[in-house]
Amino acid sequence: MDVKKQNRDIESLSEPFKSKVKLFLEECKSNGLDVFITEALRSKERQEYLYSLGRTVPGRVVTWTLKSKHLVGHAIDIAFRGQELYPSDERIWNKVFDIGEKHGIVSLYRKYGVEKAHLEWGGTIPVKEVELINYPIMDDKQKQLVDNAIYSLKNMHNYGTPKMRQFASDMANTLRALKEEKEDA
Ligand SMILES: [Zn+2]
Repeated sequence: MDVKKQNRDIESLSEPFKSKVKLFLEECKSNGLDVFITEALRSKERQEYLYSLGRTVPGRVVTWTLKSKHLVGHAIDIAFRGQELYPSDERIWNKVFDIGEKHGIVSLYRKYGVEKAHLEWGGTIPVKEVELINYPIMDDKQKQLVDNAIYSLKNMHNYGTPKMRQFASDMANTLRALKEEKEDA
């Protein structure tokens, strides 16, 4: 495996993001925006290589994280076929970002002003995959937030439709498990 090489295979992405990306690309195309994927799933080794650029290895800094959603197949980088790989016209990007948002796909550029070509899944990531991303251990403030969420969900558990109660109960359990796991780590 070559850490310098991008994996462009749409099939390497994880659901539900993969299906959303397919719809997104189709809709871009039908709007005259010939977008293609330049990178999909990324290995941990390649992420570490990219992270080293401009830090321990000479080069331009290309990423700001070791915990990219590319690692779990929940992000893509894109470019445009045609005259400009990365159009200078902001309106073109905005059209693409609008289409993405319709499918729950978030532009980090729109959200934080970084990484224009990067789009990622805005929905929830299964707990198992969150572990893979290896989020840092929660600080006290974050633990407090999780406690509050568990408390609210426990209360919600007594109200609403059966479906809502089930959701609240599952979510409270998931959060509790996640928190305990982080405490053990
Ligand atoms: Zn990216």
